[in-house]
Amino acid sequence: MKQQFTRRNLLTTLTGVLAGLATWPVARTAKAAVQKFFVSTQAPGGYDPTKHKWLMAIDVDRCIGCGLCVEACKKENNVPEGESYFRTWIERYTITKPKAGSGETRGEVFVDSPNGGIHGFPPNTIPKDQILKSFFVPKLCNLCQHSPCSQVCPVGATFDTPDGAVLVDPKYCIGCGFCVQACPYGCRFLNPITKTAEKCSLCYHRITRGLLPACVEVCPGQARIFGDLKNLSPDDPIQRFFESNKAQSLKPHLGTGPRVLYAELDKEVR
Ligand code: SF4
Ligand code: SF4
Repeated sequence: MKQQFTRRNLLTTLTGVLAGLATWPVARTAKAAVQKFFVSTQAPGGYDPTKHKWLMAIDVDRCIGCGLCVEACKKENNVPEGESYFRTWIERYTITKPKAGSGETRGEVFVDSPNGGIHGFPPNTIPKDQILKSFFVPKLCNLCQHSPCSQVCPVGATFDTPDGAVLVDPKYCIGCGFCVQACPYGCRFLNPITKTAEKCSLCYHRITRGLLPACVEVCPGQARIFGDLKNLSPDDPIQRFFESNKAQSLKPHLGTGPRVLYAELDKEVR
């Protein structure tokens, strides 16, 4: 039967079409997001990101600057060779004694990180009697809860996961480098081979299979502590970290809400 087009049924038809147009992309986007999550995160099927909340803690006092974590990370994640490419690295801070009569409590601050600390550190060039304090600080993506990198990515290639990671999907990344500029911690780089953005993924392919991140596994001094806030055991290392330390974060004034927390962080660490 030929349909009679009145003003009323034309409006109804248009409303239906518009509603369909409005819901179709939403449904499609939601489905794509779910697919993207599981494909791009390399999580095994059956892994439920809503049942975990990952967290990394670093006890600066325990880091000996050996660089084994940097080496393990490079191998595990196929990070390119070269001084500019690290997903994690170690910085050595050296604070000198104040000049006599200056009235200050400390002198100058020097930071070095030869090749990211991958081969350890040579002896300090500053004479021992001038050093007030020297220590090593492991650095990596801070897993920001309010991640500036995700906010600037024009194509959604960088995204936050429900279990506390911040990841990059190289299939979507267009290599614009906005995220590299936006990260206030200098944690990202453009991979010279893939031309896509890279940073610490928390070894997502490992942790979703019950393994530790590579850097945590090899750390001889247990300076790196890793855990799941939603599945804490009674004697969990993360639990012990919080019981015995005052947790601090890098650049707290920026409001990024890091999920990488530190103990014994000197105020000079940036
Ligand atoms: S530390 Fe940098 S790369 Fe990591 S989540 Fe924060 S802004 Fe992004
Ligand atoms: S480099 Fe890639 S991940 Fe970074 S902002 Fe551009 S598209 Fe997004």
